[in-house]
Amino acid sequence: MSADSDMVAPCPFCGSEDVGFTDPPAPWFVQCRSCLTEGPSAHGDDSKRGAARAWNTRAALDASGIGELVVQAETYRQMHEDAVELGYSSILEALEDLERMKNDAALSRARATQETNSE
Ligand SMILES: [Zn+2]
Repeated sequence: MSADSDMVAPCPFCGSEDVGFTDPPAPWFVQCRSCLTEGPSAHGDDSKRGAARAWNTRAALDASGIGELVVQAETYRQMHEDAVELGYSSILEALEDLERMKNDAALSRARATQETNSE
């Protein structure tokens, strides 16, 4: 470990101190080697120091009792980014599309069952 800035807090989820950095290529992430929790993203700061800061911030927030909310918000934000990357305007639009696909699949299964039953 080269500097204090690279020091990382114990895992906020399982408490393990076996916490380190993912291997390059960048972006860097902190990863718990015990429960494999990773991240969070350092948002624009892809350095090792940024990854350590993001991890430590979450660990500190978790200790304060709002960490779970922060993790949920981060998960939602990442889902939203993924949805936008796939061409949706929002995660809600992606979820509606997913719901439609599920319904279509259920309808197809129902039709297939009917056809099988009528043979
Ligand atoms: Zn852990």
